[in-house]
Amino acid sequence: MLKIEHLGIAVKNLEQSNQLFEKLFGAAPYKLEKVESEGVSTSFFMMGESKIELLEATNSESPIAKFIEKKGEGIHHIAFEVKDIHAEMKRLESEGFILLNKEPKKGADNKMICFLHPKGTNGVLIELCQEIGTL
Ligand code: ZN
Repeated sequence: MLKIEHLGIAVKNLEQSNQLFEKLFGAAPYKLEKVESEGVSTSFFMMGESKIELLEATNSESPIAKFIEKKGEGIHHIAFEVKDIHAEMKRLESEGFILLNKEPKKGADNKMICFLHPKGTNGVLIELCQEIGTL
């Protein structure tokens, strides 16, 4: 793994949270994106090398809706940039980690992504991501 690419934060109301985080960071989100297949609306903030992703559920079946129902708003996942997502998925699976998807899938912000089950990572949802175009 190369570095922490971003932290994902689950929010109830993206519009309100965008305003809140814009005040906090002193900068507006550089991207708003809906990922219909994941049932989320997202926004991305950048500070230097670090990114924060805010996620709002677009329907009640969304993993974000379920997360907020169970745990409330807050840090949802840590995303790590990887050089070769296929190789990294294979490596982690052989180490006994549980992959939530068997093939990389299209995520927000021009990334191919894969999640690891938090059961195998001390309760932390981990996202692997690789920029599309570097695959
Ligand atoms: Zn993410």
